[in-house]
Amino acid sequence: MSNKQKRFFLQENEIPTHWYNIQADMINKPMPPLNPKTKEPLKPEDLFPVFAEELCRQELNQKDTWIEIPEEVRDMYKYYRSTPLVRAYGLEKAIDTPAHIYFKNESVSPIGSHKLNSALAQAYYCKKEGVKNITTETGAGQWGAALSYAAKVFGLEAAVYQVKISYEQKPYRRSIMQTFGAQVTPSPSMSTRAGKDILTKYPNHQGSLGTAISEAIELARTTPNCKYTLGSVLSHVALHQTIIGLEAEKQMEMAGEYPDIIVACFGGGSNFGGISFPFMRHTILEGKKTRFIAAEPASCPKLTRGKFIYDFGDEAGYTPLLPMYSLGHNFAPANIHAGGLRYHGAGVIVSQLLKDKYMEAVDIQQLDSFAAGCLFARAEGIIPAPESCHAIAATINEAKRCKETGEEKVILFNLSGHGLIDMSAYDQYLAGDLTNHALTDDEIEKSIENI
Ligand SMILES: *Cc1c(COP(=O)(O)O)cnc(C)c1O
Repeated sequence: MSNKQKRFFLQENEIPTHWYNIQADMINKPMPPLNPKTKEPLKPEDLFPVFAEELCRQELNQKDTWIEIPEEVRDMYKYYRSTPLVRAYGLEKAIDTPAHIYFKNESVSPIGSHKLNSALAQAYYCKKEGVKNITTETGAGQWGAALSYAAKVFGLEAAVYQVKISYEQKPYRRSIMQTFGAQVTPSPSMSTRAGKDILTKYPNHQGSLGTAISEAIELARTTPNCKYTLGSVLSHVALHQTIIGLEAEKQMEMAGEYPDIIVACFGGGSNFGGISFPFMRHTILEGKKTRFIAAEPASCPKLTRGKFIYDFGDEAGYTPLLPMYSLGHNFAPANIHAGGLRYHGAGVIVSQLLKDKYMEAVDIQQLDSFAAGCLFARAEGIIPAPESCHAIAATINEAKRCKETGEEKVILFNLSGHGLIDMSAYDQYLAGDLTNHALTDDEIEKSIENI
């Protein structure tokens, strides 16, 4: 063991200076988002009222392979990057596999997940364009926490709509946002028309990401000098997250290996895209044979059981129509603990890549995800976020297959966050109070028909 390196780090001057834009290299480009009224392909200008202008241009940029990371953002990345690439010797031993398992540990960011990689970028561009207020939605609170901190870094005011059930069940994430100085409102709220409409129809509505997005977009549209930000799904978010895979590429080289399989959990696709796209580049350009596996919850299976359609990104239908794998924008997922994975659709880049079979998807049951998370915690000493547990479960499945076949495959997964603020979920799992959630084909069919 003693001569085996456990962790791989980059020096500050080795941290990548550009994000990777996979859209430039894709053979079949993502289909264009559409204006819902005219059905015309969207132009960057159409998004200017809602997002910072530079983010709109990045969103639809299919030309430039490399996009420079602004110096101000790189300076902030230094607070926690590079994140370690770790060889999971403990996990390999626990499941007695010949596979070599590595993970990229994004849980070491100040707020405990990968979300900060994009929050810093988005807040920076808003600041640069003279915006004073930024708004967003958050489910479990990971994105809200990242954005609240990033807003403070760049001197902006943040207003966060938090899904009501999370606001009530996850008080510490709310405290974190408030500690960073953000204003947090449970959604649906009476402060927007979208919120009022929903509460009038359903007074006991527990909230959903789709609803909270509608509220935040409405605030951005109706408040001067205020922009909206989103923590997943959109292509510019995945772009910022490629810092994960670009670092991992260099670190795997230090380890003298190249991944046969890359795994990440899947909510809207940003941490999956972040770790995968820089490696997928070699698949597209050089024919490398890596398998890319997205692990989604069985209760929200847009990739494995959704349909490729044009759908809205939010409940009220304020967003453009996006070509994506979706369960329908009114889909109400079961209240699983992996809050960050409870979203009805997948980003447009990932949707095209899945359609073109550059990647695969698997669904993971809630109980299997926590069993995997506990196994990992005991083997490696890190308690993973409930979302990340899905990636770990899929990794363990692949590693066990290697045990059967005797193959020494190299598996790399992304540890998107730690679970230290999700201990009530672990409590319930350990007490035997959690269940799996089966969805019938009928339920899915109905939800998709509904759009
Ligand atoms: C938000 C979140 C996710 C899911 O979002 P993606 O955009 O699919 O990456 C996964 N893990 C953690 C820890 C999160 O906070």
